[in-house]
Formats: sequence, C-alpha cells, structure tokens
Amino acid sequence: MIDLMASTPWLLLTVTGLFSLLIGSFLNVVIHRLPIIMERQWQSEARAWLQTQGQHPGGEAEVAGPYNLVVPRSGCPHCGHRIKALENIPVLSYLFLRGRCSACGARISPQYPLVEAATAVLSMLVVWHFGFTWAAGAALLFTWALIALAVIDLRTTLLPDMITLPVLWLGLIVNLPGLFTDATSSVIGAIAGYLSLWLVYHAFRLLTGKEGMGYGDFKLFALIGAWLGWQVLPLVILLSSLVGAVVGIALILARGRDRDIPIPFGPYLAAAGFIALLWGDAIIGAYLQALV
Ligand SMILES: [Zn+2]
Repeated sequence: MIDLMASTPWLLLTVTGLFSLLIGSFLNVVIHRLPIIMERQWQSEARAWLQTQGQHPGGEAEVAGPYNLVVPRSGCPHCGHRIKALENIPVLSYLFLRGRCSACGARISPQYPLVEAATAVLSMLVVWHFGFTWAAGAALLFTWALIALAVIDLRTTLLPDMITLPVLWLGLIVNLPGLFTDATSSVIGAIAGYLSLWLVYHAFRLLTGKEGMGYGDFKLFALIGAWLGWQVLPLVILLSSLVGAVVGIALILARGRDRDIPIPFGPYLAAAGFIALLWGDAIIGAYLQALV
C-alpha cells in the first residue's frame, strides 16, 4: 500500500483529497467550538476569582452540561435538529440540502463547505509539492493549523493559544532533524517572529495611541518562524501586507469607507505562511538572483 502511494501520484492525491475533506469537517468543529470553550473557561475563572473576593458573581450560576470538541453532538443552531450521518458528508451534504437545515429550513453557513473544500485543495497542493514524505505529513499539520487559526481570527479576532503555542513547539521539534530548515534557524525564527511584531506593535501604539494588532499575531508569526526559519519572515510580512492591501482596497470599494471595522491581521499572516511553505525558497531564490 505504501509503495503504491509513493509510486502513484494520482492515487496519493485522491486519498489526500478525500481524507482532507474529513479533516476540514473536524476543523469546522474546532473553529466553532474553541472560541466558546475559551469563553466558558474565562467565565468560570472570573466567577472563581469573584468568589475568592467574597463577591457574588451574579449571572447564571453554572453553564449546563459539558461542552468540548466531542460533546454535545452537532445540531442545527436554529431548531436543535441532530445532524445525521448522511447530512454530515463534507461539501456534498451542503449541496444536497441546498444550504438549509432538513428539519426547519434555516440557512446553513456556507462557511462549512468552504472550509472543507479549502482544506482539501490546500492539502492536495501540499502533497503535490512534497510527495509521499515525512515533510508532507508535517506540512499538512501546519496547513490545517493555519486554516483553523485564519477562520477563527476572521470570526472572532482571536488566535487561541491552545492552537498557536503547541503548533509553535511542534515547529521547533520537526526542525530538530531539519525537516524544513535547520534547528538554529528555527529557534531564531520563533524569537525573531515574536520580537519583531512586538516591537512594531509598541512603536505603533506610542506613535498613534492605537493598537494595530494583538499578541496572538506575534505568536502566529513566531510559529511561522519556528516552522520555516527566520529567513522567510521578511517575505511573509511582505506577502501578508500585499494581500492585506488588496483585500482592504476591495473591501473599501465594495462597502465604502469604513475604517473603524477592525480587520484581523492573522488570516493574512496565515495565507502568507502557507505561500512561504510551498514557494518561499523559490521566491527568495529568484529575488536573490535578480540582485546579482
Ligand atoms: Zn434546523
């Protein structure tokens, strides 16, 4: 089976695509539930702190039932209809149901099939690029984390530590044997990624009195540095600013000027991190050649 996968690219790509649709389905659960799990944790911590201060927390006393990535089972947020196995097939179910709940007809967010389809397409690109290798396996984990982070940031303007920190550590580990860069470049990448945005943040705040980004962005940039090495960081900033400028201008044209809407930086960093994963070396190489 392993030999067959290594020698038959179309089979490898097909298996990757189908498997990644399921991963995309799981990423949807993470994207929707992780912010709620975090909010519940903050609430219970705040309540515990108020009680140590001898104050009455107020509000509802305890949130009912456990809530995690598995429990409770997924249901329609409108009518509570339990989602059956047949209604849970990535992308296809959405198309068959025409984007509506089978029980009450409420609209289902197109975000679900979009995340599933994007996960499949990006995963196939990764496997196409790296082939049947350890690097491909690690790059898939990196890609899936970037997808979850980008969509959570778009929805909530949060980049959860529960994803950024473990994936940052994982980047340092996979580069011990030098999977994407050497171990030294990986460690320097993590430090330089965090510090550079931290400095920009504080300089921007001193100059304008505004906060341009958050600490989650520093961690995401550190994560990209840990995975790909400090050498790609300038390219990642350049790419994310370019994509950000294009999307920003498109939004202003579409919605009119509305500068007060906070546009999260995380999705652009994540997109640039993915581009750097696949084509960073080629882009930097071409640039250096042009200089000579
Ligand atoms: Zn419903």
